[in-house]
Amino acid sequence: MSRPEDVRAPEGHPIFVIQKHDATTLHYDFRLEADGVLKSWAVPKGPSADPKEKRLAIPTEDHPLDYADFEGVIPEGRYGAGTVMVWDRGVYRNLTRKDGREIPVTGALGKGHVSVWLEGEKVRGGYALTRFRTGKGEAWLLVKMDDAEAAPGRDLVATETRSVVSGRTIEEIAAGEEPE
Ligand code: MN
Repeated sequence: MSRPEDVRAPEGHPIFVIQKHDATTLHYDFRLEADGVLKSWAVPKGPSADPKEKRLAIPTEDHPLDYADFEGVIPEGRYGAGTVMVWDRGVYRNLTRKDGREIPVTGALGKGHVSVWLEGEKVRGGYALTRFRTGKGEAWLLVKMDDAEAAPGRDLVATETRSVVSGRTIEEIAAGEEPE
C-alpha cells in the first residue's frame, strides 16, 4: 500500500496523525501507522504535553493509511459524520522495549502497552499508550512521557486550534472555506 502523498515519511519511519473531529461529541482521533493500517483511538480531551495529565483513549476501527490526509466534512448518516481537521501529523519511532529489545508496535498493542516518540508539528516527544480494563470493556490512557519535550501545564489543545495542512479552524472547515 502506498503512503499518502502529503504525509510521506523519511525512509523507514511510520506516520502518525491526530485528526480533530467534531462529530456527536468533539474528540481527537489519534492514529499510528502499523502493519499497513492506521491503528486508531478517540481521545476526548486530546493529547497533553504535561506528563501528569492522563488522557482517556477509546480504541476505534483501523483506518486505511490514506485517511491520514482527510480533512473536510463527512455527511450526515455516514460513519464519522461531522467535521474533520488534520490537527497534527508527522512520523514516529517505536520506543517500546523489553529486556533492551524493541517490541514491534502491533505486538506491543496486543500486549496493551506501546511507547512512541512523536515528531509532529505540535506534538513532540515520548508518549505512552497503556490499556486498562473497564466495566464496559477496554480503554487506554495516552500519557506524555517525562522527557525534554514535556511541558507541564501546557494545554496543547487550547492553544493549537488550526489545521497543519490548511491553516483553517474547525469552524472554517465546517463552513467550507477554501484553504489559504
Ligand atoms: Mn472520530
